[in-house]
Amino acid sequence: MVVKKETHQFKTEVQQMLKLIINSMYSNKEIFLRELISNSSDAIDKLSFEAQTSPDIIGDDTEFKIKIIPDGIKQTLEVSDNGIGMTYDEVMENIGTIAKSGTGAFLEALEAAQNNDTLAPELIGRFGIGFYSAFMAADKIILITRRAGSETATKWESHGDGSYTIEETSKESRGTSIILELKKQEKGEKDFTDEWTIKSIVKQHSDFVHYPIVMDVEKDEPIPKEEQVLDKEGKPVGETTKKVIREETLNSMQAIWTKAKDEVSDKEHEEFYQHISHDWNPPLTRLHMKFEGATEYTALLYIPSKAPFDMFHTESGHGIHLYSRRVFIMDNCKELIPEYLRFVKGVVDAPDLDLNVSREILQQNNLIRNIRRNLVKKIFELLKNMEKDDYEKFYEEFGQLIKVGIHTDIENRNKISELIRYKTTKSEGKLISLKEYVENMDKEQENIYYITGDNLSAIMNSPHLEQLKAKDIEVLLMSDPIDEWVVQSLTEYDGKQLKSAEKGDLDLEKIDEKKQDEYTDLFNFIKIELQDKIKEVKASTRLKDSVACLSGDTYDMSAYMEKIIKSSGQKTPDVKRVLELNIDHPVMSQVKALFEKDPSVPVMKEYCNLFLDIALISEGGKVENPARFSKTIGELMSKAITV
Ligand code: ADP
Ligand code: MG
Repeated sequence: MVVKKETHQFKTEVQQMLKLIINSMYSNKEIFLRELISNSSDAIDKLSFEAQTSPDIIGDDTEFKIKIIPDGIKQTLEVSDNGIGMTYDEVMENIGTIAKSGTGAFLEALEAAQNNDTLAPELIGRFGIGFYSAFMAADKIILITRRAGSETATKWESHGDGSYTIEETSKESRGTSIILELKKQEKGEKDFTDEWTIKSIVKQHSDFVHYPIVMDVEKDEPIPKEEQVLDKEGKPVGETTKKVIREETLNSMQAIWTKAKDEVSDKEHEEFYQHISHDWNPPLTRLHMKFEGATEYTALLYIPSKAPFDMFHTESGHGIHLYSRRVFIMDNCKELIPEYLRFVKGVVDAPDLDLNVSREILQQNNLIRNIRRNLVKKIFELLKNMEKDDYEKFYEEFGQLIKVGIHTDIENRNKISELIRYKTTKSEGKLISLKEYVENMDKEQENIYYITGDNLSAIMNSPHLEQLKAKDIEVLLMSDPIDEWVVQSLTEYDGKQLKSAEKGDLDLEKIDEKKQDEYTDLFNFIKIELQDKIKEVKASTRLKDSVACLSGDTYDMSAYMEKIIKSSGQKTPDVKRVLELNIDHPVMSQVKALFEKDPSVPVMKEYCNLFLDIALISEGGKVENPARFSKTIGELMSKAITV
């Protein structure tokens, strides 16, 4: 197949981003080199992973390396690797689109950044737009690549101005070469073809890359004695040294996890973290330890400081890299960490692991299972012992995933319950732990109370909490959909039941039974009138100031859960709820008096519906018939207002 040269437009979001990159007067342009090297390193990783199952794809080209080729005269800089390369389709797919999953969020962030140059580097890190960062330094980029195992190669070219061309070409061996036609240097800017400049950039940003990053360097080498021209006395007549070109390795390739803990600086950690995570923000904290004993391994793990925009939606790619004796086995080793901790990045080096281990085998591998159990334990310890401020930052970003753990990790549920935090009716906007909640409990209080709903201020002011508040009992405010799953799984903490403020009996008040009996007939009437909509009418022990609310039985689905399920497009069985009325409220005795005088007055029916509507509105729900509601209210107001 011969494909003619084609011109394509970049996707809109890429165009916008390129504009941002090119126009932002970003002072730290040199990081483009780190991005290209990092891509090359990833490409070699991918090749070596694929070679585990098909060793043939490596062929004679066995020496993995990344080569930098500067040309000071032409002002070009080439970064070339013998990694996996890309097919034509892969080039189309990878170098032309970005942020496939998080596009929406990305565009929002982009918009926000439009007037803010300093955000550019952060965006570059967070969206994996590494490749395009080369347009900070180049007017034109030419990419030539050949996929391992393929005969043909692909050439991609762009000025970063909205379009690119792509065509078939040939290339001698597998891998990718990226040639930058560098921008004209402004005064005071670095010359990216300068040997010393390149060396120092590589040293600073890519020293730990574990493949050699090489460059041809001119050197003075001594001329061997036998080749020298000597005079009678045996002294050399001409030059004793000659200029030669030698390929020099620029990076130390030190695996920083193998160093002693105190020998690695924060700066080195930051660079390394960026390399493995593709996240620009420095990590929030880290865990670096050597495990000895039955299972020996080294782990260097990082907790990011920012959650990715697509935390819930995609298989975000990086995760934990698995090595054995510094030989790369795979990245994003899911077997090493439970789903809900997938935000943890880093490296595990397990010397006893078979290098040819496949993903399928990993799942049943005992060694991996032990490591995983250990890592989880250590991560919990790390989180638990974090400074309060740092932990809050962490929780802000990743709290939702931690809560997922409550639901999915039965084995560790108790430990995870120490990590969750909630705002409460008494915490004044601060997050507190369940432990703190229990410490604040009055001696008489037996349960831990909570309320769920999608709007924090609505649940905070919910009528369901009136009696609880009157008794000065703290209530956890749960306004995250995941909380519905939390309370399903976490039914008790520290021997205390978690109790919904809107379901079941709150065990707070003894009802005045005599008074309640007086309402039996009225309640029966209301129940018949509303029988399609509610399952019962009861005197409330929850309410204090309000007239009505809706509650559920202990095991009923909560209103919020019903809403979540409905909004996801699923059907729920229709759960009828209990209409609770406050018999201490003055309006109740009025209605009762009216009812006892003549139960057949038409307005009685209106009042029944009004009770239900008030209950619905007070919990942020919608009334079934707004026209009828406003008509009744209007009539009531005109009767009530007498001047
Ligand atoms: P990221 O590295 O975060 O995925 P980049 O913009 O740096 O984002 O690269 C985009 C994609 O282009 C990579 O995921 C990879 O598929 C492909 N790519 C870039 N450089 C190379 C390379 N040297 N060899 C093979 N594939 C590459
Ligand atoms: Mg990259």
